[in-house]
Amino acid sequence: MKKKFKNKVPTFSPPRDEDLFLGSSFGLHSYGDLKQFECFFLQFLFDFDHDFDKPVGFIAPSSDTLVFAIAACWNLGIPFISFNRHATSSELEKQLQNIQPGLIFSSKEAQKKLDYPHQISIKQLDLPRSLNVDVKLGYAAEQFTPQTDPNNIFGYFFTSGTSGTPKTVPLKRRQMYFAAKASAENFKPRLNHFWLLCLPLNHIGGISIILRSLLYGTSIFRMKSFHPKMIHTFLSENKLFQAASLVPTMLKRLLDRQGFHVHNNFKAILLGGGPIDPALVKRCNDSGVPLVPSYGMTETCAQIAANPILKPSGTYGPMSSVGQVFTPNQIQIRDKDGNPVGFNNSGSIWLKGPQVFDGYRNLPDSETFDSNGWFNTGDFGHLNANDQLFIETRRSDLIITGGENVSPFEVEKALTKLTDISEAAVFGLPDEEWGQKVVAVVVPEENHSFDEQTLLSSLSSELAPFKIPKKIIRVENIPKTRTGKIERSNLPKLFSNGT
Ligand code: ATP
Ligand code: MG
Repeated sequence: MKKKFKNKVPTFSPPRDEDLFLGSSFGLHSYGDLKQFECFFLQFLFDFDHDFDKPVGFIAPSSDTLVFAIAACWNLGIPFISFNRHATSSELEKQLQNIQPGLIFSSKEAQKKLDYPHQISIKQLDLPRSLNVDVKLGYAAEQFTPQTDPNNIFGYFFTSGTSGTPKTVPLKRRQMYFAAKASAENFKPRLNHFWLLCLPLNHIGGISIILRSLLYGTSIFRMKSFHPKMIHTFLSENKLFQAASLVPTMLKRLLDRQGFHVHNNFKAILLGGGPIDPALVKRCNDSGVPLVPSYGMTETCAQIAANPILKPSGTYGPMSSVGQVFTPNQIQIRDKDGNPVGFNNSGSIWLKGPQVFDGYRNLPDSETFDSNGWFNTGDFGHLNANDQLFIETRRSDLIITGGENVSPFEVEKALTKLTDISEAAVFGLPDEEWGQKVVAVVVPEENHSFDEQTLLSSLSSELAPFKIPKKIIRVENIPKTRTGKIERSNLPKLFSNGT
C-alpha cells in the first residue's frame, strides 16, 4: 500500500525563520522522525536504481534535510560525499570524476554548475516539509541490510585546500566512531542538550557534530549561517545550549561583541580548525567563557588532540597548547632526517592510531606515511614535558631565513598584540641574500593609523631580529578559506609587488 509522505517526515516544531532550524536527531526531533526519514531516503535511492557500491553525493547548503540525510547515511551504512557548493564548475567536475558518486542530491543553484556531460543522476534535495513523494514505507527497508561493517567507508571528505588543491580523504566507520568516542570522553556532552552547528556541512568539523549527536544523544541546533547576535543571545540566555563548535575567526567575532558572555550552565566552546591565538584564549578566560582548544584535521576525523575543558575559574593551562593527543593515538615530533626529538624541541608532527585515515584517494601512500604507518601531518610543533602539544605552523609555511626557522604564526601573534592591528598574515618571499625574507600584510584596527616604522620598532621588543618582517604592507582584507584559515599559499603571488 502506498502512503503519502507529505507532512509526515519530519515534523518541524516549531519552525522558525528561513535561516534557522531548531532540530536534532534525538532532541526536538524524535528517533522515530529519523527512522521515517531513513525509509524515505532508502526508497528514493531504490527508485532511482542507485548502485549501492557507489557513494551518494550532496551539493547543497546546510539544511535540516542534509543533517537528516547524513545521519541516515551513517545509520544505513551508505557512503556519501558532501561537496563544497562554492566550488567552481571545473573543480566540481574534477572531484566528481575522482569520486564517481552513483547519484547526486543537489540544490537548484549548484545544479547549474553541473551543466556538462556526465553519467551521474542528479536529484534535487528539497526540504522535507515541501516534499510530496509517494513511497511504499518499509518496502525498501525490507530489501536492504544496513552496511555497518566498521571497515566500510563512512564518507569521502575534502581537506580545506589551504595549501593547494583539496585532497580527498576516505574515512572509515571505525575511524569516525573512535574519534567521536574520544572527543565525547573528553568533552562529556550531556544528553539532549544543544550543540550549536554553524560550520559548513561539507567539512569534517560540521559532520562530526552530527555523528556525536547520533552516538551520544546530544541535540543539534543548526544555523544556516554564522549569526553572532543570535548566537550571543542563545549562549547567554538559553540553558539548553551547552556547547558550540567554532573556528577562531568566529570566536573572535563573538568576543568582539560588547558584553559577550555565556550562561553559567554552559559547558564549553570547542575551538579548532586553524591556529589559535593565545590572546583569544585569554579573552575567553577574562570573559568567563569555558573553552576546549583542539587540534585535528580531515585525515584524523577532526580533533585528535584537545585540552580538557578550560574553565575561567583558574584551570586554564598554558594558553597556547592544544592539549594532549587522545590515547591510544600516538604522536611523534621528528627532525628533518625523520628522527624523533625530545620534549620542547620543534619538528614535524607525525601521528598514528585508530582515528588516523588509511590514505588519500588517488594519491600515493609513500608521500603520506612512513614504512611503519606513521602519518606525516605536514604541521610543525613541539611537545612539552607533560605531552601537551603546541602547534607552530604548517611545515610548508615555515619561513627559513638565513638558516633560521620562523613560524609565521608567531609573527602574526606579535603583530595582532599591537593595539593598532586587527589582523595579520605573514609569509616568506624569495630573497637573494637570506634565501627567504619575512613579509607581513596587516589590516589596521578601525580608525587607527598605519605607520610601518612604528610597527617595526614595536615588534623589536617581542621578536628576535631575524623574525621581524622586512616589509609590512597595509591591506583591506586578508584572503581566507571558508573555514577562516589564511590562504597563505596565495599570499606570495598576491603581494610580492608591494615589496
Ligand atoms: P589542505 O590539507 O588541503 O592544505 P587543511 O590542512 O587546511 O587543507 P583541514 O583538514 O581542514 O585542511 O585542516 C587541518 C589543518 O588545520 C591542520 O593540519 C593544521 O594545519 C590546521 N589546524 C587545525 N587545528 C589547528 C590548531 N589548533 N592550531 C594550528 N593549526 C591548526
Ligand atoms: Mg591538511
